[in-house]
Amino acid sequence: MAARKVWFHVDVNSAFLSWSALRLLQKGETLDLRTVPSAVGGNEEKRHGVVLAKSQAAKKYGIHTGESLFSARLKCPDLIVTPPDFDWYVQCSKGLIAILNDYSPVVEQFSIDEAFVEMTGSEGLFGPPVQAADALRERVLRELGFTVNVGVSVNRLLAKTASDFEKPNRTHTLWPEEVPQKLWPLPVGNLFGVGPSAVRTLDALGIRTVGDLAHADPEVLRGAFGVRGDSLRRHANGIEGTPLGKREVRDNSYGNSVTLPQDLTRPEQADATLLALSESVAGRLRTDGKTARVVTVQLVDNLFRRTSHQTVLANPTNTTETIYQTARKLIRQMWPHRPVRLVGVTAEKTSADQFEQLDLFTDARHSDKQEKLDRAADALRSRFGDKAVVRARLLDPADKPVTPGALSAAKARDKRKKGQ
Ligand SMILES: [Mg+2]
Repeated sequence: MAARKVWFHVDVNSAFLSWSALRLLQKGETLDLRTVPSAVGGNEEKRHGVVLAKSQAAKKYGIHTGESLFSARLKCPDLIVTPPDFDWYVQCSKGLIAILNDYSPVVEQFSIDEAFVEMTGSEGLFGPPVQAADALRERVLRELGFTVNVGVSVNRLLAKTASDFEKPNRTHTLWPEEVPQKLWPLPVGNLFGVGPSAVRTLDALGIRTVGDLAHADPEVLRGAFGVRGDSLRRHANGIEGTPLGKREVRDNSYGNSVTLPQDLTRPEQADATLLALSESVAGRLRTDGKTARVVTVQLVDNLFRRTSHQTVLANPTNTTETIYQTARKLIRQMWPHRPVRLVGVTAEKTSADQFEQLDLFTDARHSDKQEKLDRAADALRSRFGDKAVVRARLLDPADKPVTPGALSAAKARDKRKKGQ
């Protein structure tokens, strides 16, 4: 039998608040904001400033993230409010990831203050998982000055759930055999991916706890949620299915995304990447004999804020050029104020219809020719590999082809380098 997998989920406790507290201490402030009712909040002068993060002491006053500073002060007049310092947060985040890279070559950052670390087979180096997790927590606190929770299990889903148990500065396991005792009694809304609207739907079905969901009738769940019902039930049983942070669980969708080697500040810098992603998405559609009606572009900025924009096409397509041109337009409409670290392209609402429905304004011959060209390129690629056909625009000034394959290879190379 193969050795069981081990995943850590590392989550910074009250990240923005504790990082700001740390910054102030470094600047000579003697009060540690973590020990008093305090909050990080934006734009106090403008009336709509909101709480971005709060201390444990502030939480005791019933203050929650997202509420207005005005209402937070009504609950706790002594509340100390400090503005956010996003550039400092990015530095803290990088410090954390650098330490995690010492523990494993497989570190997947999930948000600015969370990451998954695969620890399978590392017992010889770091000892049993719980011991390794404790040592990791202590090292982060000693070297960086802030606390983290570490969740330990056989997959990302359970590890992430475990890190959310009692805080701060704790290691928690949630092994599959612990699921009935530790996971099932929790309210169903605590399960990853179950938002308020799913909670309402489940409540109407009499499903209140994760255990209720784990044992619910699959047909009933499918009736209420479609195929997503199956994945909800799997999650309640501790089975991950599609890895968290990987491709989105959605039917009929072909997507690809890439974390960029460096953050981009202008949409033009993303064009070559968009073309490579469009090529890979369109190629998969063509392989499956499908066309898509909706093109979506996803961006993640360097604070890990995700945005996405989409367009419904006049005619379903599987040509690289159409998907690429649509993505280019979208990315220019949605470019954020902060540098971009991840770009994704998804084609959705696919159907098996092989024929584009042409409207009066489409040049039928052009589209047909484009599709033939694309098909010929796919055929060459499948015979001779990814580098056989490289569009001129995918060639960077150094003449290195940037194909989808090359992108993922570069990513894997990056990972290995970081792991050293
Ligand atoms: Mg956190």
